[in-house]
Amino acid sequence: MRTQIGIVGAGPAGLVLSHLLHLQKIESVVLEARSRKYIEERIRAGVLEQGTVDLLVETGVGARLKREGLVHHGIELRFNRRGHRIDLYELSGGKAITVYAQQEVIKDLVAARLKAGGQIIFEVSDVSVHGFDGPKPFIRFRRNGQVEELHCDFIAGCDGFHGVCRPSIPASAITDFDYTYPFSWLGILAQAPPSSHELIYCQHERGFALFSMRTPEVSRLYIQVPNDEEIKSWPDDRIWSELQLRSALDGNWKLARGPVLQKNIAGLRSYVAEPMQYGKLFLAGDAAHIVPATGAKGLNLAVADVRILAQALAEFYKSGKTRLLDRYSETCLRRVWKAQRFSWWMTTMLHKFDTDSPFDHHRRIAELDYLTGSRAAMTSLAENYVGLPWD
Ligand SMILES: Cc1cc2nc3c(=O)[nH]c(=O)nc-3n(C[C@H](O)[C@H](O)[C@H](O)COP(=O)(O)OP(=O)(O)OC[C@H]3O[C@@H](n4cnc5c(N)ncnc54)[C@H](O)[C@@H]3O)c2cc1C
Repeated sequence: MRTQIGIVGAGPAGLVLSHLLHLQKIESVVLEARSRKYIEERIRAGVLEQGTVDLLVETGVGARLKREGLVHHGIELRFNRRGHRIDLYELSGGKAITVYAQQEVIKDLVAARLKAGGQIIFEVSDVSVHGFDGPKPFIRFRRNGQVEELHCDFIAGCDGFHGVCRPSIPASAITDFDYTYPFSWLGILAQAPPSSHELIYCQHERGFALFSMRTPEVSRLYIQVPNDEEIKSWPDDRIWSELQLRSALDGNWKLARGPVLQKNIAGLRSYVAEPMQYGKLFLAGDAAHIVPATGAKGLNLAVADVRILAQALAEFYKSGKTRLLDRYSETCLRRVWKAQRFSWWMTTMLHKFDTDSPFDHHRRIAELDYLTGSRAAMTSLAENYVGLPWD
């Protein structure tokens, strides 16, 4: 098989890239290890920045997102039993976030690619990437037991953090920046209407809690737990009472409860691989970087990377110039590091650390107090949360 761009992974990065390339009349083939059903049901992120929404809408894959996405103009920060609303819309000059589950974005993109005759090959195995340090890159994979090769001009490694592309680059050519947080998130999906129409981030002496949602009928709720915690120690009743305790408020507040549809524990990590390119292999999304979910940046960064990559590839195919391709890593990393900083800041401000001294506790409350009382500080949060400008 031959194509122009061989894409490994049909997550947000791989599918958006394939879609944007198609609009530029550049051919691609997407190779995905899982089935279509699996990727369309995988529950992950849910907060889309303004720029992500605009890109999906402007490129013709945002009709359902516009119809069903929940547009939020603010978030609440809750600490010391009081809630403080950050007016994202007003502070950012009219931008918002949209709550629309990642698996819905995936469904829309898969449908659009297949309708346009795009090739996504599901359930491939033994994927390996070759020749990207020379003129003839190719991807070897197994489909229905048969080994096949996909020859291409460039390879896009969009295969997530545990994919094969990043580890295929010689270790000496990549620098890793890695930080694992000393706590995890226990997340539940519950058949319960959201307790508030906007997201609530709670800082509490028992640990962080987040009240989010996926639809008007389904809540997505998280609590901070120690890294070695086991899910079996957390029956549903214990989770609900912990959510109640951490969100307690002087005033009206009722936590809506319902059947727990799914629960899991996930660690929090900050990771960046530099550079994001080696020869004709380009890394994008989680394959190159991971952020703790507190800043809601993971999916949005994946989309931002492939937007840059699609532009660079379009320039190359139109003019033969590699100016943008050569700057791909540098351009993406500027945004990646700003998102890392923001995600780290939100995480360290809102979580409890075992090593916290009374001084740390007071400093954290003072930071939240300052933030929620200062228009300048709230503006900084708002412009990062809705998404920094693309360029
Ligand atoms: C459990 C979980 C929960 C999350 N929750 C949030 C959240 O609440 N908020 C938030 O902002 N972010 C969240 N994230 C992060 C966000 O979902 C990711 O940043 C986003 O999915 C990145 O998109 P991607 O396309 O780069 O990678 P992925 O979505 O990981 O896609 C990579 C794709 O490559 C495929 N693949 C992997 N290896 C191979 C291979 N060898 N061959 C072929 N295909 C392969 C995978 O099956 C997958 O489909 C979460 C992530 C996880 C794992």
